[in-house]
Amino acid sequence: MRKIEHIGIAVENMEEAISIYENLLNTKCYKIEEVKSENVKTAFFKIGDSKIELLEATNPDSPIAKFIAKRGKGMHHVAFDVEDIETEIKRLEGLGFQLIQKSPKNGADNKLIAFLHPKSTVGTLIELCQERV
Ligand code: ZN
Repeated sequence: MRKIEHIGIAVENMEEAISIYENLLNTKCYKIEEVKSENVKTAFFKIGDSKIELLEATNPDSPIAKFIAKRGKGMHHVAFDVEDIETEIKRLEGLGFQLIQKSPKNGADNKLIAFLHPKSTVGTLIELCQERV
């Protein structure tokens, strides 16, 4: 793993959250993207080498809606940038980590992604992401 690529934050009201984060980070949101397969709307901010991803549910079946119902809004996941996601998935599985996806899927911001279950990571949802080429 090379660096923290972004931190994901679950929000209920995207418009309000964007405005708060624009003020907080003193930078404009550079991308708003809906990921239909995940039932989420995302908004991205760049800060140095890292990013903040705001996530809003687009319907009640969204994993973000379920997360907020269970744990409340706020920090949702930490995403690590990896060079080769397939290799990383195999490596982590071999070490006993529980992968939510056994093979990478398309995520927002031009990424291939896979999540690790928080049960195997001391309570934090971890995302692996690799730039799609
Ligand atoms: Zn993410």
